[in-house]
Amino acid sequence: MGEIIKGKTIADKIKLDISEFVNFRKANNLIIPKIASILVGEDGGSIYYINNQEKISKSLGVGFEKILFPSSISEEELIDEIITLNNREDISGIILQLPLPKDMDEKKVISTISSDKDIDCLTYENVGKLYMGEKCFLPCTPNSVVRILKSLNVILEGKRAVIIGRSNIVGKPLSSLLLKENCTVTVCHSKTENLKDVCKEADILISAIGKPKFINDEFVKDGAIVIDVGTSSVDGKITGDVDFDNVVSKASFITPVPGGVGALTTTLLIKNSCEALEKDED
Ligand code: NAP
Repeated sequence: MGEIIKGKTIADKIKLDISEFVNFRKANNLIIPKIASILVGEDGGSIYYINNQEKISKSLGVGFEKILFPSSISEEELIDEIITLNNREDISGIILQLPLPKDMDEKKVISTISSDKDIDCLTYENVGKLYMGEKCFLPCTPNSVVRILKSLNVILEGKRAVIIGRSNIVGKPLSSLLLKENCTVTVCHSKTENLKDVCKEADILISAIGKPKFINDEFVKDGAIVIDVGTSSVDGKITGDVDFDNVVSKASFITPVPGGVGALTTTLLIKNSCEALEKDED
């Protein structure tokens, strides 16, 4: 029976570090981190995420400014607003909820964010640094996966990691982070042939496709570590890519959904806002 990994336990430790950092700064009359989180339009998922960011930030004493724009805002106006936030000294980190309305050039808008405040590693500069293995803000969802793996006290070096999904926000950056840990990384996608066979070679299998319960025990090698990034809504319930009940007895460790990867991501975003402040003071 696989051990169930609780993202919350790992998040709680990071939250303690953040609280300590903020309390120290408050006690010494130093600026505290403050996040500006931008939402354009009324996407239900994004509203949930931004409210959650606000709740956790405030509980940790981190400043939070929710910046809401109607979907009618023009690309130029949005870019101007981001430039204003780039120039504000009280803002240490900027988060832009994606996706943006379809008529906007998402890459152009993202590129406006100052790389020093880009706490979710979206800009070309930070993505380039990540790819080159240089120090940068680590993208929160891939970083959650790596934090979870490191919490297991298993040796990552030399392990065969198979990632299913090659998106810019999960699969691709995760491949860079796992290469840095000296894993042997394979990235699969919708055109991968013999997907089950490739997955069955994995010591570490990570699914980020957004297809509920797609991964069953036929994809999993005995004793593999199974990390489920997927979150789909099924009958109003958040459901992962992995058919948990079917896979749990085959895995050595497995993350649940909810309560696994997703339980960590916002906390890591807030942690990045603390690092942004320290970097600014260097
Ligand atoms: P995405 O941009 O839609 O990418 C999905 C990827 O899965 C694509 O690379 C796609 O391949 C691949 N794929 C789809 N169906 C497949 C199949 N049958 N076999 C193999 N590969 C397949 O999604 P995303 O933004 O990366 O998100 C992935 C999932 O993670 C979603 O459920 C999302 O909600 C969740 N997520 C969770 C968190 C969290 O904090 N827990 C954060 C971010 C995302 P192609 O490239 O060939 O199309």
